[in-house]
Amino acid sequence: MKQFQFNYTNEEAFLNSIKKIKQWCNASVTSEILFQVYADMLDKPKLESICSILKREMPDALYMGCTTNGNIMMGEISRGTITVVCTVFEYTSTKVEVFQYSITDASTRGVTSDFLKQLRERPWVKAVMLNITIRGMSMTSFCDNLKEMPKSIELFGGGAFASDMNEDTAYVFSSVGDISDGAVVFALIGGEDYYVSSTFLTGWKPLGRELLVTSAKGRYLKELDHKPAYETYYKYLNIKNDENFFFNTLEFPFFYEHNGINILRAPIASDENGVLTMTADIEQNVHARIAFGDPWTILEHVYNEAVKMQEFQPETITVFSCAARRTFWGDDDISSETTPFQSLAPTSGFYTSGEFLRTKGCVNQHNVTLVIAAMREGHADPSKKQQIDMNVEEFSGKISMINRLATFIQAATEELAEANQKLEMLAISDGLTKLYNRSEIQHRITEKSKEYSSSGSHGRWKAGTSLIMMDIDDFKNVNDTYGHKEGDNVLIKLSEMLKKIVSENVPEGSVGRWGGEEFMILLPDVGEIKAIKLAELIRTSFAMLEFEHAGHRTISLGVTEMIAGEDADITCMRVDDALYEAKRTGKNKVVLGRT
Ligand code: GH3
Ligand code: MG
Ligand code: MG
Repeated sequence: MKQFQFNYTNEEAFLNSIKKIKQWCNASVTSEILFQVYADMLDKPKLESICSILKREMPDALYMGCTTNGNIMMGEISRGTITVVCTVFEYTSTKVEVFQYSITDASTRGVTSDFLKQLRERPWVKAVMLNITIRGMSMTSFCDNLKEMPKSIELFGGGAFASDMNEDTAYVFSSVGDISDGAVVFALIGGEDYYVSSTFLTGWKPLGRELLVTSAKGRYLKELDHKPAYETYYKYLNIKNDENFFFNTLEFPFFYEHNGINILRAPIASDENGVLTMTADIEQNVHARIAFGDPWTILEHVYNEAVKMQEFQPETITVFSCAARRTFWGDDDISSETTPFQSLAPTSGFYTSGEFLRTKGCVNQHNVTLVIAAMREGHADPSKKQQIDMNVEEFSGKISMINRLATFIQAATEELAEANQKLEMLAISDGLTKLYNRSEIQHRITEKSKEYSSSGSHGRWKAGTSLIMMDIDDFKNVNDTYGHKEGDNVLIKLSEMLKKIVSENVPEGSVGRWGGEEFMILLPDVGEIKAIKLAELIRTSFAMLEFEHAGHRTISLGVTEMIAGEDADITCMRVDDALYEAKRTGKNKVVLGRT
């Protein structure tokens, strides 16, 4: 593989560069030639002229390109330019083909299904590189449909963008289609001697507690934890909803898991209702966290990826970086995350509004991410391993202030979450027995009862739901004879036994202390027959326990089944009556409270 990279200055210089490429090609064995043209300007006539020159001068070469928010040439940012990258494949086994389709939200299904058909007819394909106009479109179904590509194919690419971030127009074009503001271009590359390795990195880290996306549709993030999404940015980061909102939030995008990997989404704007417009779709019911960017952490990730890539020994590297990263770093420093790759192989690419990558079989649209695709023809030669040109001391061992503060916040958040969990447990459990307390078990019974009533069915349920209530026989006597401590011991042992028996027999059952030496068990989806059996098991198991001083003791139990539509208090009264009946008729027995 051989690559030429240069910026278009004028027609004459362009023709000169093409001449040099042709000369090189004539002197070597070449199979395919692919031009990538990145334009950091919406100059359609100029692009048309470039395309027609390419067609005229090199009719056999393929080309693809798009407008961008800045280009990357030889690992460095190149602003306001048209960057031309010419890749010459040298193995005759290598094949390249380019496809261009018009695309709208409505035609996504048709485009992807035709494309999948083309792929199936080309078993040689190993990589798909794409450029797509994505502004104002949802990419979710596009990405989901492409999951069906043959497993071994890697996919990477970027969305067309414009120098002005607020500009909605963007173009893609190729050797098989016109310059279009609504199209996708796919380059298919493969062959037995062609190798590709694609990956992504962010460097952004999650910060603070988890927020549940309670309402979202497409790119609109409406609610987090049932509150307007914007409130989170105001509350935790004091970011005001003004003209600087986008720039202020860029450093703190949302971080969540999708298709088994971490995805970032940055808010672009907030409306008066606190609904955030995100850089791309976000789903409802995911747990998101605010993330922060930190130069040292990013550089560390860049270094780690470069080390991995070093083994692959790329001959060319293409990067699709988010325009948000450029804003985050600033133009003076942005190249520090791409130059290390240049030391491994010629690195080119562009700043986009959406990076695409296939990971674990799923195609994802990323934001705030660096997607990197390395290519090679022929086997890697270990003796040719390139050094990574990066000042590692600059970031290794150094942890910036923001990173320390983030660690502090993270640790404090985890401590708080743990403390909260403990408090929640305390609020619902009984101190002595560790079972649910009266109010919790009562609450659970009421909820279950409501669930029955609202399901619209009346009378007894096939599956049923039952209650068991029990009371230790002659317990006063234990206290009076052997002391309160032994009484406590009996209560604890009974509770442990109840927990064990219920969790083994009815895992979704709940055991609570009703008061003193009375206990209540809620058995969802358990009919009275099974409940009686369980009550018998409890009675006999307890009778077998031997206490240090109090010896063997007994319990009396009442059992009843819930009736749909019945008030929970009535069910509780019925089971209480059954227990009373057991006491009245001799204790140490189970009585069914009939309806
Ligand atoms: P019965 O067979 O009719 O149920 O007789 P009983 O003696 O068990 O009934 P009673 O309700 O008269 O006595 C319950 C006793 O339970 C009274 C109370 O002191 C004791 N008790 C309640 N809570 C605790 C506790 O947390 N620890 C101890 N050790 N005893 C308790
Ligand atoms: Mg008792
Ligand atoms: Mg009692």
